[in-house]
Order: sequence, then C-alpha cells, then structure tokens
Amino acid sequence: MDTSGPIRPRLPSPVWDVADPWLAERGVELRLKRDDLIHPLVPGNKWRKLTPNLRAAVEQGHTRLLTFGGAYSNHIRAVAAAGAAHGLSTVGVIRGDELAGAPRNWSLARAEEHGMELAFVTRSAYRETLRGLSENDPGPLRGLEERWGSAYVLPEGGTNVLAAGGAADLVAELPDLGSGDVVCCAVGTGGTLAGIAAALPAGARAVGFAVLKGADGYLEGEVAELHRRGWGRAFGDWRIEHGYHGGGYGRVPVELEAFAARFEERHGVRVERRYVAKMLWGVYGLAERGELAPGSRVTAVITGPPDPEGSAGAVGAAGSAGTKGSAGTEGSAGTAGGGRPEA
Ligand SMILES: *Cc1c(COP(=O)(O)O)cnc(C)c1O
Repeated sequence: MDTSGPIRPRLPSPVWDVADPWLAERGVELRLKRDDLIHPLVPGNKWRKLTPNLRAAVEQGHTRLLTFGGAYSNHIRAVAAAGAAHGLSTVGVIRGDELAGAPRNWSLARAEEHGMELAFVTRSAYRETLRGLSENDPGPLRGLEERWGSAYVLPEGGTNVLAAGGAADLVAELPDLGSGDVVCCAVGTGGTLAGIAAALPAGARAVGFAVLKGADGYLEGEVAELHRRGWGRAFGDWRIEHGYHGGGYGRVPVELEAFAARFEERHGVRVERRYVAKMLWGVYGLAERGELAPGSRVTAVITGPPDPEGSAGAVGAAGSAGTKGSAGTEGSAGTAGGGRPEA
C-alpha cells in the first residue's frame, strides 16, 4: 500500500443516476453523489473534512496530528493515511484500553501501517478528555501535549468548523440544485450535514439521517452550533431524521441488511452499512411515507465505501470483547451482526 506522496483526490466526485421504478412511481428521482470514490485511503466526507484541517496544521507549523476514535473508526484510518501523505506524524487516541493487548483489527492495523501511533485509553478517560477539549478546559490538552508533544488536535470524528466548510464544497459540485432538490447524508457528528446545509442554494433542502440512537436534539444542537461558529448565522433548510438508526451505532437489524442487500443487487453498487445504508433506508422510508413530494430529486451523498470484504469486525461479524457499551454495541438477536462502538 502506498503510504506516501500527495493524496490525489478524484474531484469532482461522480454523480450517478439511479433508475428505480418504485421511486419513479412516487415521482421521486434519485442520484448518488459518489464521494466514496474520492480516494481509496482518504475517502468520502473524511477527505472533505480533513483537507482544510491538514492545510491549517501545515500552515501553523505543526508536524503532528492527534485525534480520537473507536476501534473501527473511519476517521482514524483517514487521518493516518492523510498525515502520512503530508509528512505529518499521527497519534490516534483509541477508546478502550482492553484493545491494547489484543491482536489489531483490520482498521487499527491499517492505521499503524500508515505510521500512526496508537494510544489506548479507558472509556472513562476517553470521555473525560473529549469533554474537557470540547469545553476548552486546558487540562486535557496539556496532558496530551506533555505525552505527545505539540500537535494539531482534531476532535473525534474530525468535525470542527473547518471540516464543515470542507463538506460544504461538495455542494459546489452540484451546480444544478434548486427547489425540489433534497440532499441527503448520514449523520454521525453532524459536520457533513452542517456544511451541506450552509452551502445550499435557495429552495434546496438537506435531510440528515442519524446513525446514533437517542441523539434527537443533541445532533441538531451540534449542527446549529457549527453554523453559528462557522457562518455566524442559522440556516432553516435542513433537518435530521431519527427513525433510521437501526437500533444504534453499528447496529444493522435484519430489515436494514435486507434493504441494503436488495439495493446492492438492483443497482450494482456496494453499500457501506454503518452510515450509508441507513441514509438510503431513510430516503426510501421518506418516499414511502409520502414525505418527498412528487417532483423531488434526491441527491444521496455516499459518504464512504464499504468495509473491505470479509474483514473481521465488519458489520455482520460478531462484536468482539470490549465492545460492550451503551450505544448499541453488542451483537444481539434480531440484528444481522454485532455492532461496535465508534464515532
Ligand atoms: C464519518 C462518516 C460519516 C459521519 O459524518 P459526520 O460529519 O460525522 O456526520 C458518515 N458516513 C461515513 C461513511 C463516515 O465514515
């Protein structure tokens, strides 16, 4: 795997029309904004969100990136690869100290292949550190810098105002948007949705689909806060659907798995399960409920590629030790696989 040299993104990412008679009957057009094809190592919204931050890190003279994530975090892998390409060293603070002594899963192994140093911390230390950072408490940052030296710190999931601005750029690649257009994306932290909503032309709307359970209100607050800090105003052209998380982060109930498999078969495109499948499931759900007016055109942003085929720990495999937690992290009856915690 090439781990050095500049990242050459495929931009603008392609737009694919989806011919779907069931949607057509309801007067709904669907197209896919294939951000998953932007780059194999730094794909999707991770490329869009990281790029402005990498630029800022280099401009500020940093030589190290430090960030946070779970055992299968797409963000962690993307930071490792992007940092290597920019000649920056990388540190990943990983939730779950029990992972330190375990064999590396495919995702953490990839991060290490790109030179990322992994620091495994307990769930409570992880939570405390993130809380301190988000509240601008100087303690956690000082602690991290004492251990790792000065670093450009990216929040969990990579979302900050710069990241949202990077996500906004995808709207510029859709110059034909107008009234009747609905741009849809999955919502983990809300950074991608915030950027899209802020950049839409008048008449177009954005709908985000939460992949976390119980995040009603919280995620709306996060998006509104990004708008306030990044754009100095509120936007009224977006909302978040909370009915398609499938039971929680990483959970894929049989119904969702069946939907995703059917979509793949009909449309010849593999679908990432933790985010993208839930978003597409939600799009069809809205159409079924008649919440997409006839004449609507949905642009579904494919924010990332599926996990490598057969990868242990991919959705569909059993949850591993240490994935017990609140956010739907244990495999259970009625799910097509164990989940796992991650952000
Ligand atoms: C990280 C990720 C998201 C979540 O994006 P946010 O900006 O955190 O809401 C969505 N889709 C995929 C594939 C991701 O990897």
